[in-house]
Amino acid sequence: QARSPHEPEFHQAVHEVLHSISPVIEQHPEYCDLGVLERLVEPERQIMFRVPWADDSGKLQVNRGYRIQFSSVLGPYKGGLRFHPSVNLSIIKFLGFEQIFKNALTGQGIGGAKGGSDFDPHGKSEAEVMRFCQSFMSELYRHLGEHTDVPAGDIGVGGREIGYLFGMYRKITNRHESGMFTGKGTGWGGAEVRTEATGYGAVFFAQEMLAVHNESLDGKRVVVSGSGNVAIYAIEKAQQLGATAVTASDSSGYVVDDAGIDVALLRQIKEVERARIVEYANRRPGARFVEGGRVWEVPGDIAVPSATQNELSIDDAEALIANGVRAVSEGANMPCLPDAAAAFQKAGVLFAPGKAANAGGVATSALEMSQNASRQRWTFGDSENKLREIMADIHDAAFQAAERYDVAGDYVAGANIAGFERVATAMVAQGAI
Ligand code: NDP
Repeated sequence: QARSPHEPEFHQAVHEVLHSISPVIEQHPEYCDLGVLERLVEPERQIMFRVPWADDSGKLQVNRGYRIQFSSVLGPYKGGLRFHPSVNLSIIKFLGFEQIFKNALTGQGIGGAKGGSDFDPHGKSEAEVMRFCQSFMSELYRHLGEHTDVPAGDIGVGGREIGYLFGMYRKITNRHESGMFTGKGTGWGGAEVRTEATGYGAVFFAQEMLAVHNESLDGKRVVVSGSGNVAIYAIEKAQQLGATAVTASDSSGYVVDDAGIDVALLRQIKEVERARIVEYANRRPGARFVEGGRVWEVPGDIAVPSATQNELSIDDAEALIANGVRAVSEGANMPCLPDAAAAFQKAGVLFAPGKAANAGGVATSALEMSQNASRQRWTFGDSENKLREIMADIHDAAFQAAERYDVAGDYVAGANIAGFERVATAMVAQGAI
C-alpha cells in the first residue's frame, strides 16, 4: 500500500488474490524465495500520457491516457481499453492485475494489461469521438504490436472506437497489422462471436455451475445489470437457453420486462441510437422504468452483474438472497463488493467471479489473434462451440483447483489458484526478470 497509495480498487483486487492463494504459497515456499508475489503486484510497465483533442466548437480539451502492461510472462500483453470519466490509475491497475489471472485461466498464450482514458464518449459527436481516438492512438501506438501488446474494447470502447483506433495505428505505422487489436469489425479482420463472447461466456459459466448440481437454465428468471456489450449478449444467450432475462440498466436506472427483454429493441436503442434505457420502457408495452433504482431489488433465480466494478453491495446481495437467487455469474469485472461476494458464498449461492465468468471475451480475442496470424476465418458456429468448450474448461480448472486445496465449491479461490499456478510456474521458469 505504501508503494501504491490512493489506489483502493487495486488494493481490493490484490487482497482478494493474495488471500485465495495463501494455501498455494504454503506448499510452494520457493515462490516467496524467488519474489514471485513482489514481482506480480508491480506492473512491468506503466504508461500515462496526455491526450489533447479539439471539440466541435474548436476548444482544446485534454484527457489522460493509460496503458498498464502488467505481465507478459504468458504472451503479449492483452487487455481492453476503457473510456469512462471514472478511469484513474487505481481502476486501470486493478483491471490489469485481474487480467493476468483471467488470461492465464483461458489456457491461451496471452499476458495481462489494461488501458483507457477518463474521456467520456457519452454526448460527444461522431467527429469528437474520432478525433479523440486518433489523438489517443498517436501516442499509444509506439507501445503496441501483435507480438508486444494487443488491446481490445471495454466500457465506452466498442466497434466504433476500435475502428478509429485501428485506423490511426495503420496510418502511423504504415502496417495493416490485423493482430494488433481485437474486437475488429468482421469485415476487416474481426472474429465471429467476439462481440457476443463475454456475455455468452458468462451465461455458459452459469450453466456449467448449475450442471454440477443437475440443474439448468431452462425456465429460470435472470436479472442482468447494464445494457452494453456484455449485458446485451448475456441476455440473448440466457433466453436462447430457455431462461427469461427480465432486466437491463444503465447509470440512470433500470427497466423490468416480465415477458423477457426484447434483444432487438435493446440493441436498436443502445447500439444504434446510443439512447438512455428509459427509451426501452417507452417503446415496449408491459415494460417499466425505475429511475435511479437498484436492479438487484428485482427477484430472479440467476444474477448476471454486467455494468461495472463495485455495483452490487451487501444490501443488494441480501435482497437477492432473500428473493431466492441460486447463482451469480459476474459478467463485469469485480461488480460485487467483497462482503457481497462473501454473503453469496455463505448462503450457498453458486458464485462465479468475473475473472472466470467473463473470460470468454478475452479467450475469443486470442482466437481472433490466431485467425489473423494464420489468415483463417472460422464460422460463427465453430467459434461459438470453441467458446463453449473454453468456458467449460475454465469452469473445470477453477472447480478442480478449489477441490485440491480443500475449498470445494469456492470458485473465487479456485479461479485465483488455477490462474496463479500457471503464471507462477512460468515466472519461476523464466527467471527473476
Ligand atoms: P459498455 O460500455 O458496453 O456498457 C457498460 C454498461 O454499464 C452501460 O450500460 C453503462 O451505462 C453501465 N455502466 C458503466 N459504468 C457505470 C456506472 N459507474 N454506474 C452505472 N452503470 C454503469 O461496457 P461493457 O459491456 O463492455 O463492459 C461491462 C463490464 O464488463 C465492465 O466491467 C468490463 O470491464 C467488463 N468486461 C467487458 C468485456 C468485453 O468484452 N466488453 C470483457 C470482460 C469484462 P451508462 O451508459 O449509463 O454508463
